[in-house]
Amino acid sequence: MSTLLIDPIQIMAPPSLSCRLIVLTGPSGVGKGTLVKKLLLRHQELWLSVSATTRVPREGEIDGQDYFFFEQQKFDDLINNDGFLEWAEFAGNFYGTPIKEVREKLDIGRPVLLEIELNGARQVRKTFPDALQIFLAPPSFDELERRIRGRATDTEEAIQRRLTRAKDELNASNEFDAVVINDDIDLAFLKLEEAIGFQ
Ligand code: 5GP
Repeated sequence: MSTLLIDPIQIMAPPSLSCRLIVLTGPSGVGKGTLVKKLLLRHQELWLSVSATTRVPREGEIDGQDYFFFEQQKFDDLINNDGFLEWAEFAGNFYGTPIKEVREKLDIGRPVLLEIELNGARQVRKTFPDALQIFLAPPSFDELERRIRGRATDTEEAIQRRLTRAKDELNASNEFDAVVINDDIDLAFLKLEEAIGFQ
């Protein structure tokens, strides 16, 4: 079983809620969604940006809640009208953060959370250099593969694309202000709160 060479927690920048924009990145299947749900329940001042995507909805996903599910043309129109804070292609689909609501929330001082992949996080780093960037890592690559396969919603081709992409993302974890390993969900949650600056 391959093990990732990442310390359980690395916090390179002093975390603070004055970093009003928080970016959470990590490979597909690492458990970002579960941790984000827990964060929103516990810290209701946080506002989670709903992304747009060209991916087809998974069973149970609700338009406008999980994602805005866009046709490619609509997605392209938003790109051309500077409607995205960032956008990226991921495993054959496009994903982007609509900028309007993010700006509105930041303007009224509400902390904003983005749950996005690596290339998007890199774009945000350029436009919002003060954003707090957190990377969520699996305890090992094998465990990540098990979780992705366990989800059983994707085709084998999609799974392979996600696994290939996961390797690139894991190699970039040292670009982030903090790395949290999601081995035990409750422990990871505490570490995530700590990284964000919640007590
Ligand atoms: P999924 O298809 O599993 O919902 O998401 C695939 C990947 O896209 C995940 O890593 C997720 O974090 C990322 N993602 C979701 N929304 C956005 C977005 O608005 N921008 C970018 N760059 N990535 C996103």
